[in-house]
Amino acid sequence: MKKSKKIGILGGGQLAKMLCDSAKHMGYTTVILDPNPDSCGRLSSTEHLVQKYVDKVSLKKICKETDVITYEFENIPSEVIRYLKENGGNIPQGEKPLFLSQHRIREKSAVSKIGVRTADFEKVVNLETAKSALKILGAPCILKTCSGGYDGKGQWKILEIKDLECVRWRNIEYILEKMVDFEMEVSCLVVRGTNGDVVTFPIGENEHKNGILNKTIVPARVSEEIQNKVRELSEKIVKKLDIYGPLGIEYFIKNENIYFNEMAPRPHNSAHYTMDACNYSQFDIHLLAILGESLPEIKLITPVVMLNVMGEDSKKIEKIKLDEETKLHIYGKTEWKKDRKMGHINYCGQNIEGLIKRANSF
Ligand code: ADP
Ligand code: MG
Repeated sequence: MKKSKKIGILGGGQLAKMLCDSAKHMGYTTVILDPNPDSCGRLSSTEHLVQKYVDKVSLKKICKETDVITYEFENIPSEVIRYLKENGGNIPQGEKPLFLSQHRIREKSAVSKIGVRTADFEKVVNLETAKSALKILGAPCILKTCSGGYDGKGQWKILEIKDLECVRWRNIEYILEKMVDFEMEVSCLVVRGTNGDVVTFPIGENEHKNGILNKTIVPARVSEEIQNKVRELSEKIVKKLDIYGPLGIEYFIKNENIYFNEMAPRPHNSAHYTMDACNYSQFDIHLLAILGESLPEIKLITPVVMLNVMGEDSKKIEKIKLDEETKLHIYGKTEWKKDRKMGHINYCGQNIEGLIKRANSF
């Protein structure tokens, strides 16, 4: 029989909550660290330390009491990881995936260095450098802050020089990217275990609304060849960049070409479908990976459409009709606010077009 383990998690949002739910199923206990007393992870974690991420007393306690430590968001300061290591914490994913994913230029440079295609890009720090970069790349482009952006925040569409002049430039780094005129956005959740096993989950086709993920359709409606290529690229990225743990990678598909867009070293919203449509969820595999267990083959049990439930859906959610093929997951956040991810629905069944219709009529 396997000995019970204790998992430490930096961050206490919905990803931590679902990770704790998986841990509970495996007979493990958890402790989350999150300064927000209402963070939804509290509903599923054995313990919640309501302290800042840099709180040394909490970090030491986590090192002392847990078998393994992980994170649920990429903006953990790297000094926190160093402090955990210095204090004997077992944090197998380490700093590297955070270092890369916390900065869009670092991330894209690392990936293109190993031969994975990205949109053309230039580093930009002010209006002058932006104008020169726009000349090199040619319009249309998209300007993004290098750090701290999510759900389309910190981004500007640039069609002409005038658009650059409208940006309120701050004393930070930006990336100017050539727009990819893609046919589809897809993502792949790849996981590398500390024992060296690598598994990929089926590719999801992603639809965004106002820069926020709205739906993920699985299997993605692209050729098998593209699906296999995306899986191969994802495996290549974790192996060549020496990344352990889960990595959610977003790509653009244009003709037969695959462009890397961005990656996050944690469970990914676009892989929430795995909770009801795969033999193992991304959270199960995340845990097995950091615990050094062997990783089972991942199988898609049913086609699925995942729909995000947002704060503005509070009335609709009251009326939703559930059945054995419609699975609702609510995160337990205290306030239903616009543009806030409150939960998701997995519509499972054989007919993808029918599932999309059901999701659209939610
Ligand atoms: P975020 O961290 O906000 O998710 P992304 O880089 O994924 O930032 O950008 C958000 C969305 O903007 C993408 O899902 C895509 O729809 C669009 N986008 C981003 N970069 C490009 C690009 N180079 N070309 C075309 N569309 C893009
Ligand atoms: Mg994105």
